[in-house]
Amino acid sequence: MLLHDKFGRAITDLRISITDRCNYKCVYCRTGNEGALYGDLPFEDYFRMARVLVGMGITKVRLTGGEPLLRKGVVEFVRELAKLRPQGLKPSSYGGGNGTLRLRSGQAPEAVPFPTPTVGLKAVADPTVADPMPDPKPEQQRTGDFSDPLDIALTTNGHLLADLAQPLKDAGLTRVTVSMDAVDPDRFVRITRVPGGYDHVLAGIRAARRAGLWPLKVNCVLMRGFNEDQIIPFGMFAREEGVTVRFIEFMPLEEGRTWAPTTVVTLDEILARMAEYRPLVEIPHARSETARRYRFDDGVGEIGIIAPVSHPFCGHCSRIRITSDGKIRTCLFSVWDHDLHAQMRRGASDDELAEFIQGVVAKKEERHHIGEPDFVPASRTMVHIGG
Ligand code: SF4
Repeated sequence: MLLHDKFGRAITDLRISITDRCNYKCVYCRTGNEGALYGDLPFEDYFRMARVLVGMGITKVRLTGGEPLLRKGVVEFVRELAKLRPQGLKPSSYGGGNGTLRLRSGQAPEAVPFPTPTVGLKAVADPTVADPMPDPKPEQQRTGDFSDPLDIALTTNGHLLADLAQPLKDAGLTRVTVSMDAVDPDRFVRITRVPGGYDHVLAGIRAARRAGLWPLKVNCVLMRGFNEDQIIPFGMFAREEGVTVRFIEFMPLEEGRTWAPTTVVTLDEILARMAEYRPLVEIPHARSETARRYRFDDGVGEIGIIAPVSHPFCGHCSRIRITSDGKIRTCLFSVWDHDLHAQMRRGASDDELAEFIQGVVAKKEERHHIGEPDFVPASRTMVHIGG
């Protein structure tokens, strides 16, 4: 029973928030007044959820937060997750044996170039507009050798990464994304409101590279009036540090609900600004990838742009999320949650959990409505969802 929503989108990416606690107070995310609201679950519970979902076609698991590295036991959790095989290996219990079943798994999506970007912030483009090359049918996608390891990624603010990068890699983590919104230490403090954080994060990035966590991405949320002058310095940083820097358009998911279209630095603006520094060449990429990718003309350094506001990508969304308190969110902008953990607490079997999940995914939203008259804010803010 492979997971698809009613729009035919294959759901292959799971994001699990393992805590909504965070050691940073970034201005675009937190007002700084609200602490953790929902609490954490035992890793065994997240593991069971992941195991059932991997059996339903999930091939990528990303650990998020709050700040996931605040959770003691995260390395062991990664080690257990690494025993899962897409659609196959289902260890009987957490930390227990690993009986293997041979089943099929996902074929790498074909890379296609995106049409030339349009100009400026306009009403949200209709993501259901058919692209020239529709995705291959779901049944065509899942052929190939299922023994591929699960692709396990983690998103962190990097503050605790320097000491954990190697143990996480050894446990089976594939890749890491570090959230960093300035390469100027003073600006960094102004955004995160945590003194001395910049050096910690830089050390974490370098430790991740030494450990071989790859690809190594750095995500920067751009806000007009705060850090749009960091675009070119981040281009240089990508080349010097050998990391992929991805710029993210600011989304209305912050605690203070202060978002406005005018604060969004759009994809077109970012490209225009970076071109003042060095020409870029677009890199073809899979449709379900959230970022558009670009390489500098001399081949040194890569950037990405995640443009959910000016160039939404909902039409190919392959993601669902589990919150730190065990609720399924089918979209970042969902206005309600679905309590998977409650099903577990009432003693549901794996098959009953799978049925519940299939029913929830069938209701997955078609797209977000940011900037539209009927836009309704998400029922949770980003720190309590997990990105
Ligand atoms: S806004 Fe929702 S539907 Fe669109 S890409 Fe994000 S999670 Fe998917």
